[in-house]
Amino acid sequence: MKVLISTDIEGVAGVYHHEQARQGNPEYERARVLMAQEANAAIAGAFDAGATEVLVNDSHGGFRNMPPDVLDARARVVQGKPRYLSMVAGVEEGVDALCMVGYHSRAQGRGILAHTINSFAFASISLGNQELGEAGLYGALAGEYGVPVVMASGDDVFISENQALFPHASFVQTKKATGFNSGVSLSPEQSRQAIRAGVIEGLAARAHARPLVFQGPQVVTLRTQSPMMADLFCQWPSFERVDGVTLRFSADSVESAVRMLNCCSAMSSMLR
Ligand SMILES: [Zn+2]
Repeated sequence: MKVLISTDIEGVAGVYHHEQARQGNPEYERARVLMAQEANAAIAGAFDAGATEVLVNDSHGGFRNMPPDVLDARARVVQGKPRYLSMVAGVEEGVDALCMVGYHSRAQGRGILAHTINSFAFASISLGNQELGEAGLYGALAGEYGVPVVMASGDDVFISENQALFPHASFVQTKKATGFNSGVSLSPEQSRQAIRAGVIEGLAARAHARPLVFQGPQVVTLRTQSPMMADLFCQWPSFERVDGVTLRFSADSVESAVRMLNCCSAMSSMLR
């Protein structure tokens, strides 16, 4: 059994503030180790559950947060950007299951550090009529590769947003959100124990888990954080402007849709 673990930082126990998630802050140097230790808990759980191979994907910001020498030496590590499959790079190697560790809820919601891909650029992203956060988008991308999400960890808002998308996954609550920058967290130690157990449980039940599938071409509706941002994205000829902050585009697949969104995210840096 080959397992892919995708790790973000905003859902990690003890993380509440952007200073913990951005390079250049002393608090980030601590938080990136907390992130790596939650990844290690998931790696340990995967091997406990019988994995023969584990890939761990560093999926936050510049995609090179977790110090490689802190990570469990049994796993191979996917780091650096840009890369086509972004938060689920590694899925193309033919994995049996995907675990999402340290994830967060979507933009404009009430979760801790809630955002969708890029907090400066995107206010909401929908495939068809379904609004999705990062777990939904990347769960659907993994689904195109036939890979189910079997475990996910983050705050209570993240869990309530995503449980219906992954009904057979094992969810681990690391924190309860009380605001964008506040909440009540498990200790890092308790969080790691829960993540390890959650991965074991999720992998044990993987026969019941189904890939999240959005069939065929996708119509993506994107709301931007400002009309100026929508002006910029609509330089792309196939984008249709719906209103000041809403635009729509079609993509052949979820993978194409996610790649187009990540191109928009990169373009947005010209307006910073
Ligand atoms: Zn992140």
